[in-house]
Amino acid sequence: MVDHPQGFPQPVDGSVVPRFAGPASFMRLPTVTSPAELDIALIGVPWDGGTTNRPGARHGPREIRNQSSLMRRAHHVSKIVPYELARIADLGDVPLNPIDLMGALATIEAYYQTVRAAGAIPLSAGGDHLTTLPILLALGRDRPLGLVHFDAHSDTNDRYFGDNLYTHGTPFRRAIEAGVLDPKRTIQIGIRSALYDAEEHRWAKDVGIRIVYIEEFGERGAAEIAAEARKIVGDGATYLSFDIDCLDPAFAPGTGTPEIGGLTTREAQATLRLLRGIDFIGADVVEVAPPFDPSGTTALVGATMMFEILCLLADRVAARRS
Ligand code: MN
Ligand code: MN
Repeated sequence: MVDHPQGFPQPVDGSVVPRFAGPASFMRLPTVTSPAELDIALIGVPWDGGTTNRPGARHGPREIRNQSSLMRRAHHVSKIVPYELARIADLGDVPLNPIDLMGALATIEAYYQTVRAAGAIPLSAGGDHLTTLPILLALGRDRPLGLVHFDAHSDTNDRYFGDNLYTHGTPFRRAIEAGVLDPKRTIQIGIRSALYDAEEHRWAKDVGIRIVYIEEFGERGAAEIAAEARKIVGDGATYLSFDIDCLDPAFAPGTGTPEIGGLTTREAQATLRLLRGIDFIGADVVEVAPPFDPSGTTALVGATMMFEILCLLADRVAARRS
């Protein structure tokens, strides 16, 4: 680790220590055990107990750490160097029981309450999309949050396999019911999966969620959709959730519920960059399932989207400070 003049943690320099060397951490940052004195905490949530189809996202954090060694310091468009704007480190993984669903949800919520109490913004690597629910419960408990949500699926179903309320197809419905997510400040981008029922999205639309289907994204493009997202979430506290399956499986095949006809990586990056300035208080990249992509490409995409998002978060940290 090279110490920055300001004393902020810095990534291992790839021009000094080669990228393939050393233990893997998110963005090659130092690993710490406490969120105290961090502006942004990079956190793994290795749990996929909410998966309704093909599991594997529990392996996401470790492989994203590995692939994140390919990242570099400065964003080539915005010129943001997140490590000069904010104190950022790898906080490790939430310690989770893989076979206790309700226990895992409680553990994640308590963990993120601690992160929040320390004043750190969490940027997480899942894990399946149910892991976002306890994070929202921790971050939104005193006021409902806005949400920019990239996904092939709305994830607002009511229940699965009888009376199971907690799956990766239900987190945003549960979050709205709990009052931690404001449906009228929620936009979902890239939605396209075939439905269990033609009215499957009725509830989401009725409560005020803005669903941008992939066809509309294709017609209007990143700039218009990002402008609408900014208008919908407004100035209030907002969460960003990036399900890797928003992307076409040509770019990200390593995920449990792939859907063809999705966003390109360039479209997703372009949209993310246009969200700069939103008051993000947390974010995640979920549903990277390395067992379905031995090439590692999906985890590289996940790591790169994390870097894009990290630039947005660090920019906010700097704006709040000044
Ligand atoms: Mn999802
Ligand atoms: Mn999805």
